[in-house]
Amino acid sequence: MSSTKELIEDKYNLDQADVIAYGSKSNNQETKFEFIPFKLRKLAPDEITLKTLYTSLSPYDIAFSTSKLGDNQILTHVPGHVFVGEIVELGSEVVNLKKHDIVCCGILEKSCGNCTYCLEGSQNLCESIDDMIKWKQGYGGWATHWQGNLKYAHKISQEIPLELASSLMDAGLTVYAPMKKHIIANKHKELAVIGIGRLGHLAIKYGKAMGLNVTAITMSQQNTEDIINLGADAVYNFENLNELTKLRKIDVVLYCSGDGNIDSFIRILKKRGIFVLLSAPVLGEDKSKIDEHFITHNEISIVGSHFGNDDDMRQCVDFSARHRVFPNVELYDFDDFDKALEKLNSWKAKYTIVVKCLSHKYPRFNN
Ligand SMILES: [Zn+2]
Repeated sequence: MSSTKELIEDKYNLDQADVIAYGSKSNNQETKFEFIPFKLRKLAPDEITLKTLYTSLSPYDIAFSTSKLGDNQILTHVPGHVFVGEIVELGSEVVNLKKHDIVCCGILEKSCGNCTYCLEGSQNLCESIDDMIKWKQGYGGWATHWQGNLKYAHKISQEIPLELASSLMDAGLTVYAPMKKHIIANKHKELAVIGIGRLGHLAIKYGKAMGLNVTAITMSQQNTEDIINLGADAVYNFENLNELTKLRKIDVVLYCSGDGNIDSFIRILKKRGIFVLLSAPVLGEDKSKIDEHFITHNEISIVGSHFGNDDDMRQCVDFSARHRVFPNVELYDFDDFDKALEKLNSWKAKYTIVVKCLSHKYPRFNN
């Protein structure tokens, strides 16, 4: 398989290229993003070529591109780990998909299939996960086309608007999987969501669709009415948790923010409550100091969650279609990728940023 670096070398001009991507030719803190033309490669028997329709932007795309994930960094030249597309070419061994199928792709391209975690169905914890992420195998979905293995692609039901589908495999899955595991499985009813942004707004919507009582805790001066409109039953500001701390009625907290000292949020939980970490602070900026006595005396569980496995993905997409739970998105044109990226980098996006991959500036790549 061609490496990303080989693909994006300055050897193709626009007239010769098959694909135009939005990416960088180097990977470092000063990464400069631009439109890069390159050619499609010959497919391996188990691969497909996809015409990308919509692609999501996530802070992790940038973290992976600019070496900001510490020692475990995975560098990419063309980010984009969740996207929706139409299949335009199939390798000879692909039997479960056909030409013109519309599919949604999550972060995993495939998994090793042999490690302890893959064998129990937890592909999201695969021992070789760093090698299984989309851009590690080639390049990501910030492009007009994508090629690779689609073992973990899911066909999109007609009830899901395509521009909303890609975020379901990213933010949607990240909140849905732990809700299924910790809330539904335990028949809990009281959920608190901390941080009402890309992840948190979907957690509120899923919570209401699951019949839960949802308390939202905002980390900013966000408009309370906006959060109520998402479905939250009550809204608190993180600086004013006294009442909630006195009530101690929450069964499960979904922590969707990398900010703040989690110790104050743990105190809103009932005894045996579960605190689920879905987000973490930037390396070196952890402000948390946990009261171990409170944790032990109240039998509190603090758990992490790392997107979800293949079953979770399928169930998340089905649940979203059935209950019409979709993300709120800000939609940008492909030609305006600079603006979309600027919005992401400035942390000014209210919820989710999605780019429509049809280009007006480069129409020859739309086929
Ligand atoms: Zn594995």
